[in-house]
This record gives sequence, structure tokens and C-alpha cells, in this order.
Amino acid sequence: MKLKLQAIQEWLPHNKPLLIAGPCSAETREQVLETADKIAQYFPNAIYRAGLWKPRSRAGNFEGVGNKGIKWLQEVREQYNLKVCTEVASVKHIEACLKGNVDMLWIGARTTANPFSVQEIANALQGVDIPVMVKNPISDDLELWIGAIERLNLAGINKIIAIHRGIFHPKETEFRNQPMWEMPIQLKSKLPDVPIICDPSHISGNPRLLPQIAQKALDLDMDGLMIETHINPKLALSDAAQQVTPAQLKKIMSALVIRNQACKNEKLTDKLESLREQIDLLDDELVDLLARRMALSRKIGKFKKDNNVTILQIRRWKKILQTQSKHGALVGFDEKFIHALFTLVHDESIKAQTEVMNG
Ligand code: PEP
Ligand code: MN
Repeated sequence: MKLKLQAIQEWLPHNKPLLIAGPCSAETREQVLETADKIAQYFPNAIYRAGLWKPRSRAGNFEGVGNKGIKWLQEVREQYNLKVCTEVASVKHIEACLKGNVDMLWIGARTTANPFSVQEIANALQGVDIPVMVKNPISDDLELWIGAIERLNLAGINKIIAIHRGIFHPKETEFRNQPMWEMPIQLKSKLPDVPIICDPSHISGNPRLLPQIAQKALDLDMDGLMIETHINPKLALSDAAQQVTPAQLKKIMSALVIRNQACKNEKLTDKLESLREQIDLLDDELVDLLARRMALSRKIGKFKKDNNVTILQIRRWKKILQTQSKHGALVGFDEKFIHALFTLVHDESIKAQTEVMNG
């Protein structure tokens, strides 16, 4: 469907990057206000975040202060002139936020993964003029992310921002949630009018990896960052390991390199164009090479058919992976990249040989 959105610069004029900062959870009035005081001092244009209802994986953990935090957010608005936002997952949360004049809402990763909940939220927001941010679901299911955005838009929400917060990964990696940069890139190409920001806090899970994730997001032309910031992270009741102090945030933000989407200097543009032409030529060659490889693969398919031999030859496949991983390493490629690339090529070959067998 074609989304009907209002351009972000009309409803939230900002210089890049847009910054959303504040604690994972609102805990006490003092913690909320002291954090806001510093954020407002360092970043007067930031939007203040604080979770009031916390989606915890296991029962028994701190589940947020709930409704009573709304008035603390109101104080942040009034005292520090910051817009405020929080996560909503149910109709009750929405009612409390609308009554308490919360400026913006966000839908968390666990909720985006559930179309029933998203639809209930969309119904509750029908006819309400409020911006809503949508985090990607916890799995790498792009359709769920798009679906949530569409449901909100169908309900009349036309101020929408998408947030990339990484995905759950079954293998332990250095990240708390694996960044899946192809997801926001695909979202951008399918829904070009939806601004995308990144949540490096939930991706990295620690302050050490946070700056590089934030930089990567900006290099991918994302509009902004949501960064969990706590006046005293060590004492935080949720996500203590990943929150930064306002002073740390200041350091992180000032070290970021903000790049332009387009090149302003004509000479540089020419240079870029010429490099792109070279890339295009190589891409043409790449596709031609793949076509030649596929033609050979079909020939082999025919041979297998005539000699009654199975399509999948696991030893041969392992050998290709091994040889090309070694070859790739020599020219500076990561093994994972070579595996992913050849798995795609091999899958396509199997498909072609299956057609030959059945043909
Ligand atoms: C959060 O922002 O505190 C949060 C719970 O995020 P997510 O939904 O991305 O896990
Ligand atoms: Mn959190």
C-alpha cells in the first residue's frame, strides 16, 4: 500500500542526527528529572525517552513504575522544554499517555512482532494526531515491521518513524541484539518516506560498542539515534549494562562524523561518478560471469541426469566452500561473506539442475 505520511521536517524539524535520549526505565522522580536536567543542558533539542511499562522476558524483574511516571514526564516537558516519549503496548497505556500529554509514543520490538497487539494499538489511536515510532520486531521479519507501520497509517497515524534496534540472534555474538543493516536498507527502499533511526543501546548492550554502531547508522544515512541515558547507570533497574551517563553521551555525540547525503563539491561529485561507472562495469561483468557459471552448472545437471547421479554432491560443495574461503581470505574477504555468497550461488545451481532433471 502507498503510505500517507507527513514529512518529518514538517512536524519535527531537526538537524541530523535527531537525538532521543533518556533512561531505559523511569524509576523515581529524582532519577527522571536529574537525567532530564543534564540532557536538556547538553542537547536542548533532544527528545526525552523513559519506559513506564517495561516488557521483561521473565516475571519478577522490575516491570516499570506505570501510570505514576506520566506526571514525571509532564514535569520534564514543563521544566526542561523537552518533548517526551514512552513505549506503549496496550490500550490502557495509550489512554494514560494521551491523558498525560505525552508527545510521542513508540512500539517496542516484542509488540511489533504481534499483529493482534499492533492492531489494537492502531484502533486505539484512530483519529489521534500523535507521532508513533515503530521498532523492528525481535526477529528479522521485515514484513512484520512494514505491517505494523501500515496498520498505524491505515488508522490515520501519519507521523511515523522506524527504529532499528537489532534482532535476537540464536548464537551468542558480541552484540546484545545483532544489527541487521539490510533490514533498514530494505525498509527504506520499500517505504522511502519513513524516516529511520537507530537504537545502538539495544544493539550493542554495552557502552563500548555503542559509538561504532551509532556511526554506522549515520553512515547508512539514518535520521537519528535513540540512546539510553541514565544519571547513574550502575544503579539502573533495567538495562544497567548498556546505559550511558549524559556526560558520556555528550562525548559520544561530539565524536560522531556527520556526513552529507550528497556531495556538495563538484570535483568530488565527478570523482564519485567515475568510481561508480567503474563499479557498474564490474557489476556487469559479475552478472555475466555468474551466467556463464550457471550455464556450466546446467551442463553438469544434464550429465548427472544421464548418469543417474544425485544433484547434491556434498563433498564437492564442501570443497568449493573450503577452496573459496581460502581464496577469499587471500584477497581480504571475511569467511562469513564468502559462505553467504556461495550459498546463494549454490542454491541457484541446485534449482537450475533440478529443472534440468525434471525437464
Ligand atoms: C526499550 O527501548 O527500553 C525497549 C524495551 O526496547 P526494545 O523494544 O527494542 O527491546
Ligand atoms: Mn531498555
